[in-house]
Amino acid sequence: MSLTRQRIAIVGAGWAGLAAAVELCQAGHQVTVYEMAPQAGGRARSLQDDASPYRLDNGQHILIGAYSACLDLMRTLGLDLEQSFLRQPLRLRYPDHEGLRLPPGPPLLSFVRAILSYSAWPLKARLHLLGRASAWLMQGFRCAPQLNVDQLCAGLPGIVRQELLDPLCVAALNTPARQASAQVFLRVLQDALFSGRGSADLLLPKRGLSELLAEPAQRWLMTSGAQVLLGHRVQALKPVNGLWQIETASPALKASESFDQVILACSAAQAVKLVAPWAADWAQAAQALRFEPIITVYLHAPDCSLPAAMVALQEGPNAPAQFAFDLGLLGHAPGLFAFVISGAADWVERGLAEAGAAVLQQAQQALAWQSPPTVYRVLAEKRATFACTPDLQRPAMRVSSGLWAAGDYIAGPYPATLEGAVRAGKNAAQAACRHETG
Ligand SMILES: Cc1cc2nc3c(=O)[nH]c(=O)nc-3n(C[C@H](O)[C@H](O)[C@H](O)COP(=O)(O)OP(=O)(O)OC[C@H]3O[C@@H](n4cnc5c(N)ncnc54)[C@H](O)[C@@H]3O)c2cc1C
Repeated sequence: MSLTRQRIAIVGAGWAGLAAAVELCQAGHQVTVYEMAPQAGGRARSLQDDASPYRLDNGQHILIGAYSACLDLMRTLGLDLEQSFLRQPLRLRYPDHEGLRLPPGPPLLSFVRAILSYSAWPLKARLHLLGRASAWLMQGFRCAPQLNVDQLCAGLPGIVRQELLDPLCVAALNTPARQASAQVFLRVLQDALFSGRGSADLLLPKRGLSELLAEPAQRWLMTSGAQVLLGHRVQALKPVNGLWQIETASPALKASESFDQVILACSAAQAVKLVAPWAADWAQAAQALRFEPIITVYLHAPDCSLPAAMVALQEGPNAPAQFAFDLGLLGHAPGLFAFVISGAADWVERGLAEAGAAVLQQAQQALAWQSPPTVYRVLAEKRATFACTPDLQRPAMRVSSGLWAAGDYIAGPYPATLEGAVRAGKNAAQAACRHETG
């Protein structure tokens, strides 16, 4: 418990903002969360769409066992993790063949065993990958910051790139290997292989995203005395007499409120608008970020299924999706399938109708479904994640005295992920707690 109870505002109720709010409530502060959307969850939420019999998410998400901050937060909120996720060792199942699959056990050992026994690759390719992975291990999973993943993996056999490293890179960093930061990619591999038993496991949500975090967090915060103000956009932020003044244009709220400290857990673009007048350097770093889109194509095919809940797909010039998920096998929408196009800039440019049609064709060619699928919904998140490129200078957590920034884009070792967001939220909250006493 803190020595003094402070009034702290959080701008944005995505996973970072909610994680910060929970941490601050636990430390005994008086917390107010402003969220401009009518619902919490940010880029990881279920859609509020009464017209659809399905409660779709804004995009398919996966977690891995190494996401310890996310999983701890969910436990704090009372979520039953067994009921909420299908948890399985890393498995790259293709529509027509089993790909690489880690056996249960300590991740590093499982990885070595899986590669050695994966007879679909020539022995030479397997040994080459193990040799390269050992070199990465010896170097402490570090490399020159300016390297991209293509350069990191130069010389490795094509099949290892196509079937393992490139799909992992685009899934984890949402940035194609030729543009993706090798340093961040190595950090993801390190976390998956060295964060203890089960850290490389895939956790596939069996519930809508809002049920995983936004809704339980809101209930928890409300019973802990925090205010969660949905549908209220913060329009301006000013330092006034040693406090931070927040302005909204909501008729239901006072025009301005003052707080001891503020955590900006909104998007980088919104944070720039709020702080640019008096934190120019910070705003400049945030403004320099570039973003990558993700498209999710939901296909409907009644009475059909995939050979596994998550299936890897062969990507090609006219086959955009890298992964497909069977929402029936995941227990929430039988006959519905989410096809994911990461690093989707080209397809956003070609148009969503074309992306949907291409995925439909890709599914028809790759999957022997007995009933023809139809496109159910195509969703694009144009600023899904920051482009995780080499030598990226990400904005710092501290913006000014008593003003902190949290979000997946804040400086740190992770790519734009749920785990990065939750850790950033917790870090900012802990810094705010220390600031009080420091
Ligand atoms: C389609 C898609 C698929 C993804 N897949 C994965 C995955 O498989 N695994 C993974 O780990 N990550 C994945 N991610 C990334 C993950 O969703 C994000 O890293 C994470 O949700 C970011 O959370 P955040 O809290 O940092 O930001 P956000 O979720 O963007 O939250 C910011 C919040 O601030 C609010 N806000 C903005 N401005 C204001 C204002 N002025 N006043 C009040 N409120 C404001 C916004 O409405 C929003 O709710 C995916 C993202 C997308 C879009």
